[in-house]
Amino acid sequence: MNSVVQFPNRIPTVEFEERRFQVYTAKHLDKIDVIQQLPEDTLFEMKVVSSVLPFRVNEYVINELINWDNIPNDPIYQLVFPQRDMLRPEHYDRMAETIREGADKQTINAVAKEIREELNPHPAGQMQMNMPELDGEVLDGVQHKYRETVLFFPSQGQTCHSYCTFCFRWAQFVGDKDLKMASTDAEKLHGYLQQHTEISDLLLTGGDPMVMKTKHLVQYLEPLLEPEFDHIRTIRIGTKALTFWPYRFVTDKDADELIELFARLVEKGKHVAIMAHYNHWQEITTEIAEEAIRRIRFTGAEIRAQGPIIKHVNDDADAWARMWQKQVELGIIPYYMFVERDTGAKNHFELPLARAYDIYRDAIKQVSGLARTARGPSMSAGPGKVEIQGITEIKGEKVFVLRFLQGRNPDWVQRPFFAKYSDTATWLHELEPALGEEKFFFEDEYEQMRRGNG
Ligand SMILES: *Cc1c(COP(=O)(O)O)cnc(C)c1O
Ligand code: SF4
Repeated sequence: MNSVVQFPNRIPTVEFEERRFQVYTAKHLDKIDVIQQLPEDTLFEMKVVSSVLPFRVNEYVINELINWDNIPNDPIYQLVFPQRDMLRPEHYDRMAETIREGADKQTINAVAKEIREELNPHPAGQMQMNMPELDGEVLDGVQHKYRETVLFFPSQGQTCHSYCTFCFRWAQFVGDKDLKMASTDAEKLHGYLQQHTEISDLLLTGGDPMVMKTKHLVQYLEPLLEPEFDHIRTIRIGTKALTFWPYRFVTDKDADELIELFARLVEKGKHVAIMAHYNHWQEITTEIAEEAIRRIRFTGAEIRAQGPIIKHVNDDADAWARMWQKQVELGIIPYYMFVERDTGAKNHFELPLARAYDIYRDAIKQVSGLARTARGPSMSAGPGKVEIQGITEIKGEKVFVLRFLQGRNPDWVQRPFFAKYSDTATWLHELEPALGEEKFFFEDEYEQMRRGNG
């Protein structure tokens, strides 16, 4: 190794044993020993739901993160195992009937496809509006919605070590080619970044880019150290591997190379941020999870935590407070609390915005200032990321105080605006302007943008 970075030798560390990555999907439900003790009805429900929505869980999550004495309420169980109410009753009944009749695989898949199409597979105009072009050609696998940040979906990273039941990217995982936002190769990404010097942040996302081999990550990231990419100041990697497979950073065959890659990027002046998806403190209770965090932080990379607020998983202020506090203790920076998007099994997981805000506030009150860096609850909607800043009364009218944290037009950012209070609204499009206004201030401009790109 000719690099000056000798990171893995420097870190004082306990030896961890390698763990074999063993994963189960819908086909293997009957191979998961520990769920065979569950009621037969529950197992059948899992079978029905996993015929429609993605299901994937690995042995580490099953054995180390779930408390099997607390079923069905365990948050990690709810996070990864399919639940009956994730499907609307008519959809559930239709699939249950199909399976009971002993239908063949083809028929089951056809029914599944029809149901999926009714579940808003691509919310917030993701397919139509954010597709950048390079030399007149649309670049698949790249999204450029906010001026300074580009999202890249590497084609080798379009899966995850386990799937979250609520995932808004669910359409990508069920094999529908039209919906898959797969990527082109590294060259096209680099070509685009080179031409767009307004971009300062590259965000690798997925699926989970951490399912990729290190050598692929090197292909994407190492060239960014060349002078023509000096404008790329920050490399972010969105991942849930710190929860679902921390061994990726510790004992996997190419874990040390990965850690060295982070260290090299940092040493050469890039800010490397691991955008860790967390929903619950229970995800950070194992020694291996803590070790993975330690190793990443030792490279000089930052870890920022973000994740949605989800009914049945983390609709609990104390759980959020405990998670943020734990993150701060381990050197992780709490970053975003998201509102679950309007797609897939949203009916099962959604919370009214008013409730999400109450939980946020109750949680943030409990933690020290260092954990109050978590912004939210924030909706990643078509026009931008909209945060609920508060609930108040203005001249007798109860309102939500809102602001853009990110806007399709950067000039929208940080302007406060108001919506009529609602007990039940769960998303931006259900909100109405308050104080006698007919429209929100950004609506006409957004409408124009939509038509322009339509
Ligand atoms: C959230 C998000 C970003 C990054 O926004 P930050 O506020 O800088 O974290 C970039 N692109 C898209 C499409 C996003 O949703
Ligand atoms: S880890 Fe992220 S992309 Fe993967 S299933 Fe969970 S939410 Fe979706």
